[in-house]
Amino acid sequence: MSGITFDYIENYIRGVIPERDGLLKEMETFALENNVPIVQKETAQFLEVMISMKKPKKILELGTAIGYSSILMYINAAKNCNITTIERDEKMIDFAKQFINRSNLSQNINILQGDCLDILEALEDKYDVIFMDAGKGHYNHFLPHCLRLLAEDGVIIADNVLFRGMVASDALTVRRKITIVKRMRKYIDIVSNDEELITTVIPMGDGIAVTMRRNKDE
Ligand code: SAM
Repeated sequence: MSGITFDYIENYIRGVIPERDGLLKEMETFALENNVPIVQKETAQFLEVMISMKKPKKILELGTAIGYSSILMYINAAKNCNITTIERDEKMIDFAKQFINRSNLSQNINILQGDCLDILEALEDKYDVIFMDAGKGHYNHFLPHCLRLLAEDGVIIADNVLFRGMVASDALTVRRKITIVKRMRKYIDIVSNDEELITTVIPMGDGIAVTMRRNKDE
């Protein structure tokens, strides 16, 4: 049970998504065998649709892991898109570099090693899409930096915002996750109630929040 939606809905949605092939399929198998938490199948599909609609030229990702979502986003983004992705785990970075090299994308996908918060503080570029997928307990701390780095018409896609349903229900919350849950609620509260932002929270995968700046002409 995901704690997010009904199992039969989740199984149905996953069932209609075609199997991937080639390197992405190999990466899915690698992730499964090595317990690497890459985006869930339906979240990957959602990301593909969002990136295909937005066609970003510059993407910032928090949480590279083995590079699966970086490669997936590159494939659907504007030609020659530039992706900056942050990861603190050296072992993950080694795996990601191998997969990214094999897909001939090392010129386009740049991994920055370190803690997201430290690296975010030092970044100055503007990004069309920011994909938050690391440090669930710190999304509310990452947010001011992400807003500073977000292009005027940019989109922030945050994964795991419902965190197995715990964010929506105290009854599902386990004690050792209380801090993450409280901070994630704070993240959702800020992006939902800031008058300059517009956000939708989608009960898909582990919960996804999509945030943009509100059109000032409204
Ligand atoms: N986006 C990846 C994908 O779908 O292919 C999956 C990312 S995985 C869910 C999260 C990754 O973020 C892990 O590899 C973890 O080591 C890294 N991570 C967690 N907290 C971090 C932090 N504060 N700074 C940098 N990396 C972090």
